Amino acid sequence: MKIDSEQTILGYTRTGKDTYEPIYEPKRGFVYTQAFIICYECNTAISGCGGPRHNSLCVKCFENYRLERFIDGQGPLT
Ligand SMILES: [Zn+2]
Repeated sequence: MKIDSEQTILGYTRTGKDTYEPIYEPKRGFVYTQAFIICYECNTAISGCGGPRHNSLCVKCFENYRLERFIDGQGPLT
């Protein structure tokens, strides 16, 4: 999958056991559902549309989670 470098990553959605998929900033010209994506750790609104998505983390919580896993000696996230 080609990733558009102009798109900002807003957060991550958990798609499986140790797999996370980035949530990109909504693109102009695309239609999105008018539902918030909320971080399940800190309840911050990640995006005002494109939701609802369960198991989503904001960038900050995702980085914290990744760091915790690293400290715990667990495998890397993909
Ligand atoms: Zn968060």
